[in-house]
Amino acid sequence: MDLDTNQNLQDEGRRLAQLFEKAPVFMAVVKGPSHVFELANDAYYQLIGHRDIIGKALDDALPDVRGQGFDKLLDRVLQTGEPFIGREIAVTVQRKPGAAPEERFVDFVYAPLTEPDGTRSGVIAYGSDVTDHVQARREIERLLAESETANEALQGQQVELELLNQQLQDNAVELEAQTEELQETAADLAMRTVEANLARDAVVASEIQLQTLADAIPTLAWTARPDGFIEWYNARWYEYTGTTPEQMTGWGWQSVHHPDTLPLVLEQWRGAIASGDFFEMTFPLRGGDGEFRRFLTRVVPLRDEKGEIIRWFGTNTDVELERRALDAAEAANRAKTDFLANMSHELRTPLNAIGGYADLLDLGIHGALTDQQREAVTRIRRSERHLLGLINEILNYAKLETGTVQFESARVDLHDTMASAESLVGPQAEAKGIFLTAASCTPSLDVMADAEKLLQIFVNLFSNAIKFTAAGGRVDVDCRKEEAVIHISVRDTGIGVPADKLEAIFNPFVQVRTDLTRPHEGTGLGLAISRELARAMEGELTVTSTLGEGSTFTLTLPLADDTLDSQ
Ligand code: ADP
Repeated sequence: MDLDTNQNLQDEGRRLAQLFEKAPVFMAVVKGPSHVFELANDAYYQLIGHRDIIGKALDDALPDVRGQGFDKLLDRVLQTGEPFIGREIAVTVQRKPGAAPEERFVDFVYAPLTEPDGTRSGVIAYGSDVTDHVQARREIERLLAESETANEALQGQQVELELLNQQLQDNAVELEAQTEELQETAADLAMRTVEANLARDAVVASEIQLQTLADAIPTLAWTARPDGFIEWYNARWYEYTGTTPEQMTGWGWQSVHHPDTLPLVLEQWRGAIASGDFFEMTFPLRGGDGEFRRFLTRVVPLRDEKGEIIRWFGTNTDVELERRALDAAEAANRAKTDFLANMSHELRTPLNAIGGYADLLDLGIHGALTDQQREAVTRIRRSERHLLGLINEILNYAKLETGTVQFESARVDLHDTMASAESLVGPQAEAKGIFLTAASCTPSLDVMADAEKLLQIFVNLFSNAIKFTAAGGRVDVDCRKEEAVIHISVRDTGIGVPADKLEAIFNPFVQVRTDLTRPHEGTGLGLAISRELARAMEGELTVTSTLGEGSTFTLTLPLADDTLDSQ
């Protein structure tokens, strides 16, 4: 080689070395199986930090890179001769002495270094530090991811917003509906207020009317609270009693009552307040003149729709005149009854004398009688007995009226009593050819009655049946048990009772007169007495009848207890 050539070669070598040193890519050459650094350019030193690596094996030169797999890669390239291309490979390296190791990313190639004889002596490593690029990309990715998350969140918020919006719209609709409803309610309320005012006016008007009316009537009237406290009296009350509202309010009314009747009035009034029941009573009230008059008092509770008492309404009607009239009528009736009782008693004595003297004449004590005289005496006797019968009946009735009749209630054999009555009226029935039987009644039935009075009733019913039944008719007696009572029916085929007289015939002295029947004997007292007797024995006497066909008189009586059990 000549000098020039040598010079040229040297120049070329320097240029190459400069190129190598200043190349923008990092480059290094390692040799041998332990990868001893032979060359490294500036860029490489920038990557690993400026330290002394030439002539040192990889492990010694870069102890901070140990264990990151680069030695293995180098071994493989050296052994196989296959280059290795790595992209964005992370390497943790201490770039300044004493500084913390830092992560860098590199793109690099490990290429085998082949000697002219074909043996592989080392590896050339070259590449570039792409840390900034990787970090930038990562940042972009992070940002992207972040923006995506943000986007998602935004979308979520959007959905939420939409929901909120929808909700708001719904609320708005509801609000509108409520507003409408409120408006309607307000209108309704206004209407009702008007109605209530009208109703109140009407109530006030009717109350005024009622008060005017209450003041106008001759009756004393008042109203009380549910607890009995009297809050209002009409004008007539004050007018009659001569009192003032101050004296009367609440329970002040007691001052116008008679001390004899006041306790009972208080008891009744308190009872009504406690039970809420209507109450009626007659008692005297003192007038302004100091005189007492009797008043019929009626007190009714006024209730609301729930049934609660809201007020008591009371009236006191002056019944003094009626009471006096009634007292007088009762006294008159008593006088009549007394008169009847006395009269009939007084009449019986001379009648008995008439009978006695007639008997003496009949017996011939005063000398023998001619046939005509005997006939006259017989008529006297018959009339006397008839009159005595009538008088006895009147006396009976008078006694019943005055309440002086004693009843002795006991077990009475129904069949026996009917048989006795039957035998008493037998001749009467026989005389008219009337068939009379009480046989269809249960023989062993016992009733609670006064035997004598019961017999009297049967005799009366039987004899009436015979009396008002034409010859050849029949009278039947039936018994029908019903729970604790027995109904005994006396049925005839007689003239019957007109429908409008069915009740009247039980009144004293009432007799039915028809054109078809001639006036009959009797007082019209039999049925009145019989019904009184039946009722006094806790029974009843009733009638059903068809005019022209017959009548059925039914006596109802309580059964004796063990009769009940045995039936
Ligand atoms: P008296 O028989 O004395 O008239 P009563 O009080 O027994 O009195 O009867 C009152 C009236 O009832 C009788 O006058 C008669 O008109 C009517 N009466 C009573 N029983 C019968 C009967 N069985 N059939 C038709 N009328 C009767």
